[in-house]
Amino acid sequence: MSKRTNAQNPEKFTGIELRAIPKSAVGFKAISSALKHVKDEVGIAKGIGLLKNLNQTYGFDCPGCAWPDPDEKRAFLAEYCENGAKAIAEEATKNKVSPLFFATYSVENLAKLSDYEIGKKGRITHPVYLPEGASHYKEISWKDAFELIGKELNDLNNPNEAIFYTSGRTSNEAAYLYQLFVRQFGTNNLPDCSNMCHEASGVALTETLGIGKGSVTLEDFNHTDLVVVIGQNPGTNHPRMLSALRDAKKKGSKIITINPLPEIGLMNYKDPQNPLKWIGSGQNLTDIFLQVKINGDVALLKIILKLMVAKEEEDTGAVFDYTFIKEKTKGVEELLDDLDTYSIAYLLPQTGLNLAEIQEAANLIISSKKIIFCWAMGLTQHKNSIDNIREIVNILLLKGSIGKKGAGTCPVRGHSNVQGDRTMGICEKMPDNFLDKIDAEFDFKSPRKHGYDVVNAIKAMYQKKAKVFFGMGGNFISATPDTEYTATALRNCKLTVHVSTKLNRSHLVHGKTALILPCLGRSEKDTQFSGEQFITVENSMGVVHSSKGHLNPCSEDLLSEPAIVASLANATLKNTKVPWNKLVRNYDFIRSKIEATIPGFKDYNNKVRDPKGFYLPNNARASKFDSTPTGKANFTINEVSDLKIKEHQFIMMTVRTHDQYNTTIYGLNDRYRGVLNERRVIFMNENDMEKKGIKKLDIVNLQSHFNGETREAKGFLAIPYSIPSQCTATYFPETNVLVPIQSTGKISNTPTSKTVIITIHKR
Ligand code: SF4
Repeated sequence: MSKRTNAQNPEKFTGIELRAIPKSAVGFKAISSALKHVKDEVGIAKGIGLLKNLNQTYGFDCPGCAWPDPDEKRAFLAEYCENGAKAIAEEATKNKVSPLFFATYSVENLAKLSDYEIGKKGRITHPVYLPEGASHYKEISWKDAFELIGKELNDLNNPNEAIFYTSGRTSNEAAYLYQLFVRQFGTNNLPDCSNMCHEASGVALTETLGIGKGSVTLEDFNHTDLVVVIGQNPGTNHPRMLSALRDAKKKGSKIITINPLPEIGLMNYKDPQNPLKWIGSGQNLTDIFLQVKINGDVALLKIILKLMVAKEEEDTGAVFDYTFIKEKTKGVEELLDDLDTYSIAYLLPQTGLNLAEIQEAANLIISSKKIIFCWAMGLTQHKNSIDNIREIVNILLLKGSIGKKGAGTCPVRGHSNVQGDRTMGICEKMPDNFLDKIDAEFDFKSPRKHGYDVVNAIKAMYQKKAKVFFGMGGNFISATPDTEYTATALRNCKLTVHVSTKLNRSHLVHGKTALILPCLGRSEKDTQFSGEQFITVENSMGVVHSSKGHLNPCSEDLLSEPAIVASLANATLKNTKVPWNKLVRNYDFIRSKIEATIPGFKDYNNKVRDPKGFYLPNNARASKFDSTPTGKANFTINEVSDLKIKEHQFIMMTVRTHDQYNTTIYGLNDRYRGVLNERRVIFMNENDMEKKGIKKLDIVNLQSHFNGETREAKGFLAIPYSIPSQCTATYFPETNVLVPIQSTGKISNTPTSKTVIITIHKR
C-alpha cells in the first residue's frame, strides 16, 4: 500500500464573499473575466494570438465542452466563451512544473494543497517517475518510462489486471490507436469519462431511437418552436449555447427551463459580441421556469404526458402526430395504459411544483410542433437516469418531433471529444461488428469479454483484481465518486500512469510506483516525421472537424498522445503487426485505418480538410429507426424515482462553479450564484435552515447515508439559496467523498452524484 497522501481538498476556508446574484449572464463581465485570466496565465501578447485561433477553421478546437461551432461563418472577434478562453489559458499557461519543481516539493506536501492550488502550478515539462517508497518524483527518459510500463504490463498475470482510462479531451487519432493497443494487449478495460456523464443518454437513446447521440444540429435552433432545457446549466457549462437560445428566441421560439436551481445563464443573457447589449437589462431567455425537486423529473414528465393525453382525448389530433406514431413508432398503447396507472395527485408531490405551472408548460408543448429537448448531468447522474431520458423521448415521439428540422434530442456533451472517443471504440463493451472490423484490418483476435467501466474499474483496483492504472488525460481521483474508496483503489496498484498536460491531484494519489507522461496541448504544434499534424474531434452534434495547434510546445520534451500510444505499444506488445511508428509519422495513416474500420468516415482525410468538417450519419436525424431492437422508434414504460428520504434528511447534488471546468478549477468564484472566493459551501433552502437552526455562513459537517454506510465531509458554509425544500447543492470534487461507489444508475452504472442522501450537522 503506497504512502497515504491527501486524496481530498484540505478542509480550509478561503475567505468567502457573498454578492447579489447578477441580473444577467455573460455581457461585458464575461469578457473582462476571460481577458484577466488570459493575461494572468499567458500574458497579453501571446494571449491575443491564442484567442485569435480558438475555434477558428484554421485554428484549434476548444478543449472545453463539446458545443459545436457554426457550420458557416465563425465570429471574427471571438468564436469562444469566457470558459473556453479560460480553458485554453490554463493549457497555455506560463507556469511550469519542471524536474526541479518535483525535486523541491514532495508528493505529500503537494497533496496538502487544494485542487485549485495544485492546478495553478502549471504545465509538466518532462516525464517523471516516483519509485516505490520515494517522496519526490524524479525525471526519467521517455525510453525508460515506456520500458518500465511495458515490463509492468507484461508481468501481470493477465491483461485484465490493467485499466486504461480515457478522458474526453483525447483526439480521435489518439483514441483510435489507444483502443487498438489496449485490445492488442488483450483487454476491453476501457473506462472513460462518459461512464460518469452521458452514459445513460447513450443507453436510452440507442434503445429508443437506435443511436446513442443527439439528433439535432446547431441550425435546428433557428427552426424550432420550443426548446426545453432540463437538468442543464449552459450558462456555465456550455456558454455558447446561450447565443443559440438567443437566436431561437429571435426566431419566435419559446424556452422552458427545468432545474432545481434558477441558473441566471438561462434567465437573462447579454450578448458579449454586441457592446450595445452590455447596458440595459439584457435579453430574457426562459419563458417558463419549473423549479423541480431534485430527481422529480420522471414524475414531472409523466404529468406533462398525462396532460397531453387529456388534451388529445378532448380534441383528437390536437396533440399527437398519428402519422408519425403509426409509421415510425412502437409501443404507444402500452405507454398510454401505463400512464393511466398513475394519478397526478400521486406524482405532483414528487415534483415540488403546482399543477398550474406544469399545465402552462404542457400547453406550450401541446401547441408546439417542433420541439428540442436539451439536457446534461442534471438528468444523467441519478439511479433512474435512463427513465428520465426515455420519458423525454416519449414526449417527442407523441409529437412526431424527431427527425425533422427544428426538432429532436440534444444531450449536450461536457468534454470536447468525449463523443468522438466513443465513436473511436473507447468503451468497455463495443459491439462485435466493431471488433470484427479491427480484427480483420489488423489481423489479430481482439478480446470479447466486456471490460470494466469507471465504477467497476475502481472496485477491481480496490479488490486488488487490477494492478496497473493508465490514465489518458483527466484527473481520475477528483472526477470519480467515493474519494477515499477510490484513493485506496489507486494506492493498491503496482503502477499508476497519467498522460497529462498539467499537475493534478491524481498524480499525488498514486500506486506503489507512479509515472507522469507530459503530452502536447491542443494549442501546440504537433510535429511528426512528415511535418506538422492536425488532429480531429467530434462535437455534440456529430460534426467531425480538424484542430491544429500553432504555439511552440511549452517544453521540447513533450510527446503527442498518438506518439505516446505508439511508443507504449512498441515497448509492450510482443507479436503486433500494426505499423505503430508509420501510423504516427503522418496522422493521415491513422485516419485511413479509421476510414477502413468505422462506418461514416469514408474519404475521411479529404472531408476533414473542409474547414466546416463533416457530419457523421445520424439515423434519428434522418427519421430512420431501423437500427433499434424493434426496427422502430420505441415508446417506453418508465419508473418514477423510488428515492425516499426522512424528515431530517436532504438530497444533495454536486455541481460546478462558474470558475470550473470538470475537475479543472480556474478560480474560486461562482459569480452567477453570488459566491466569491470560496468552494466549501452548501446551498440550502432558507426555511429548511431555519427549521434546523442553521444561520447563513454557519459551519456544518455533511454525512451521506447509503445501505447503512455513512460517509463524512467536514467544514462547509451554509448558504440560503433558492432551491426546493430538502434539496441542497455543493461543489465537486469537494463532496465527491459523499457519493457512494455502490450507488449507481440502472444499466448506465453512472455514479448518482445528483442524488446523494445526506444529513447536515451544525458545528
Ligand atoms: S461553449 Fe464550450 S466549446 Fe465553446 S468555447 Fe465555450 S467551453 Fe469551449
